[in-house]
Amino acid sequence: MATPPQAYTDVVARIASAAQAAGRDPSSVTLVAVSKTQAWDAIEPVLSAGQRVFGENRVQEAMARWDGKADDLTLHLIGPLQTNKAREAVQFFDVIETLDRERLARALADEILKQGRAPRLYIQVNTGEEDQKAGVVPAEADSFIAACRTTYGLKIEGLMCIPPADEPPGPHFALLGKIAARNGLECLSMGMSGDFETAIRFGATSVRVGSAVFGARS
Ligand SMILES: *Cc1c(COP(=O)(O)O)cnc(C)c1O
Repeated sequence: MATPPQAYTDVVARIASAAQAAGRDPSSVTLVAVSKTQAWDAIEPVLSAGQRVFGENRVQEAMARWDGKADDLTLHLIGPLQTNKAREAVQFFDVIETLDRERLARALADEILKQGRAPRLYIQVNTGEEDQKAGVVPAEADSFIAACRTTYGLKIEGLMCIPPADEPPGPHFALLGKIAARNGLECLSMGMSGDFETAIRFGATSVRVGSAVFGARS
């Protein structure tokens, strides 16, 4: 077997030490290796090293990259989802992290019923209330979670956020944790290459790491 890529091994080790430093079991943090836009040459060694959870931000691109290879993998959609792609997203992904509006909740609920296949769902929260970012704003998170559960019958696994690039991420991670706790949600998808250790300190149960694992994106 080939030696695992050093960058991958480093990220796995940093996740484990961040978890331990926070008094948490390293196995309580899942690494979602974000393979979007990466060349297969960069992805293959990480796959060979045993990584089984990958994140992608576009439905079509993910299908092109992973179709026929995805049997024992867990694929996360971490990019915005258009309602007209709900069918393919439900068919293809194991986890959809970007549920953020009622129209999409309805489309996903319809497809889940139709297909008899239910991806695990995360609601994206726009903790920084940035115009250019997707996600429900914090003030509407509780009612949106409730609508997903009661109006659309969706089982919600957790919350996801992408803090503003120009602010310390800690307060955003703390806010996401608070919204999750008061809504009885245990899973938090937060932390990327630049801040995953901070996210783990604030309770991340999965971190979405791309460039630190695979190198800079083209
Ligand atoms: C691209 C992307 C990531 C990974 O970013 P890196 O900084 O390369 O680790 C994580 N989450 C989302 C939503 C992304 O779009």
